[in-house]
Amino acid sequence: MTLYPLLFTPVMKNNVWGGRALERYGYSLPDGPIGEGWMIGDHANGVTVVSDGPLQGRGLDELRETHGAELLGSKGMTSHNGRFPLLLKLLDCNDDLSVQVHPSDEYKGLPAGELGKTEMWYILDAKPGARIIYGLIPGVTREKLADAIAQGRVMDCLQQVSVKPGDSFYIPAGTVHALGAGVLVAEVQQNSDTVYRLYDYNRPGLDGKPRELHVEHSLNVINYGESKATRMTTDVRPGEWLTLAQSPYFVVEKGVVNGVWQLATSPDSFEMLVVCDGEGTLSWGGGESRPVKAGQCYLLPAVLGAYELGGRMTVLRSYLP
Ligand code: ZN
Repeated sequence: MTLYPLLFTPVMKNNVWGGRALERYGYSLPDGPIGEGWMIGDHANGVTVVSDGPLQGRGLDELRETHGAELLGSKGMTSHNGRFPLLLKLLDCNDDLSVQVHPSDEYKGLPAGELGKTEMWYILDAKPGARIIYGLIPGVTREKLADAIAQGRVMDCLQQVSVKPGDSFYIPAGTVHALGAGVLVAEVQQNSDTVYRLYDYNRPGLDGKPRELHVEHSLNVINYGESKATRMTTDVRPGEWLTLAQSPYFVVEKGVVNGVWQLATSPDSFEMLVVCDGEGTLSWGGGESRPVKAGQCYLLPAVLGAYELGGRMTVLRSYLP
């Protein structure tokens, strides 16, 4: 069976900090606050399933097994845990997320089968005044941070920045961070679900009890030196790619489609496309085409080759470096 651009039914996650904003893209959400839509996922905690076409109903885990390099590309075949190497999410932060940090692949305390988690965010929408936490204030050591956590004043150690739509952040493993209330985010990350929480605003979780904190793990994995985290605004001209993140795990670029743009996947890697705004068409192969619109996320198989985006839209594309 021939591969084609794959659209998946998202795995929606209930989170105490979530909301209903993903409905704006036409997704039907389960009841309650929904914080994360896993759009392209192959993880023990969520596998996305193809939503249409001849492969409808197949999970990304099954497709990865049956199609191998045709789907993943040659670079995708070396993932440390044998699964799809990346995870793509849309995040609706209706309330502040916990202050957290993720380990690297090298951390000895990683749960079995888990990878580290380097991630990047692209801000799709932000309410006026929305802020995020992004790194330690310079000079904060492990000892100072441990004291601040013990004394309930961890916020004194953290950098807060205001955000607007179109901002992009690169968050290497070891960077303390928290998305704040009022932002809608596209997140590209290593395929990992390991979160160490330093602080959760003393609020109850969905079950009414405080969520677990992981202070010792957090202190162990935080990078207290010069962070490689970056922040950028992302003005871009139609028909040019702007690199938002260039990491050992993924490259993420932003492009603006205005008219017709001829593109191609490489046999080295799949591509993941996020349509951030606007609408248009995606065409490939011998004259196949489908309408695409904001909020959709496509997995383009490495074997796809030439494809074309038409219309007016802003897209992110991600692939393996
Ligand atoms: Zn995170």
